[in-house]
Amino acid sequence: MVAPKETILIIEDERDIRELLKFQLQQEGFKIETAESGEQALRILKTSKISLILLDLMLPGMDGLEICQRLKAKPKTRDIPIIILTAKSSETDIIKGLGLGADDYVGKPFSAKVLVARIRTVLRRPSTLKTDTPVGPVLQVGDLLIDPSRHKAEIKGKDINLTHTEFRILQILAANPGYAFPRQQIVDHIRGESYAVTERIIDVQIVSLRKKMGSLADWIETVRSVGYRFKEV
Ligand code: CA
Repeated sequence: MVAPKETILIIEDERDIRELLKFQLQQEGFKIETAESGEQALRILKTSKISLILLDLMLPGMDGLEICQRLKAKPKTRDIPIIILTAKSSETDIIKGLGLGADDYVGKPFSAKVLVARIRTVLRRPSTLKTDTPVGPVLQVGDLLIDPSRHKAEIKGKDINLTHTEFRILQILAANPGYAFPRQQIVDHIRGESYAVTERIIDVQIVSLRKKMGSLADWIETVRSVGYRFKEV
């Protein structure tokens, strides 16, 4: 059981799936809010404190990716974790969603057990990470500061707003400057935390990470036919 109660917002237009999810998650002790559309979800988010969002991608009106993008753009909703619910085949959408800052995905049809495990994993980060994950020391490289205890990376004192996966990739690379990480090795490091990670997703995350690093983007070097390396600066 979960205590105190965390509220999960389910955004799903198919009534049967929505009601089933609601029932299953209530059984696990979560409080549930539901929305049939993005528009309705945005209204709920204005008034309710939501701990996590389950987001269906195929919705009438505003689609799931657009909702994800909007929520991650607003300071008020940016830190609410999002798990995408999607048909297993749509890898492009999954990659897009993770690129927009979603925290994980679960393919439909999903088992309640798997979904609940993912929800718990996502809810555990990053505020209670301190005890059950090796957080490591603060890392300062030139203008870049990586603070595992706060799960933040800063450039010249300014938070660069990394997603969980982006942060972990940066942390792993920067802790080992000059070492060329094969993609699979990065996947292995992150896989324990999220099963959603594939080699292709690492590439997408690196693109986004470099964008956020701005003038320091070239500190993450591509090593042809291997993977990625943090520049020795
Ligand atoms: Ca749908």
